[in-house]
Amino acid sequence: MTRMKVIAAHFPGGMSCRDAEDFIDRYLDGELSVAQKLKFKIHIATCVECHAYLRAYEASRAIAKSIMGEGDEDVGPMPDDLVQAILAAR
Ligand SMILES: [Zn+2]
Repeated sequence: MTRMKVIAAHFPGGMSCRDAEDFIDRYLDGELSVAQKLKFKIHIATCVECHAYLRAYEASRAIAKSIMGEGDEDVGPMPDDLVQAILAAR
């Protein structure tokens, strides 16, 4: 058992993959509370699927940003099918 898994096992109210997905956008925008961020990070550190999803999501946001330029406008959440396509291409 890794250290993070031990922490996760003892952390009450650990989040599900579904919750983690909902948190990704706000996590990347820095909008989560400290407690939410901690829960999210523990889940990401212990869940291979969500870790991969976060990486793909980050990458797709970076790509969208570079396409949109250094604009001040919020480009909004990435479409799910784009994220899926990036994940499928790995
Ligand atoms: Zn997960």
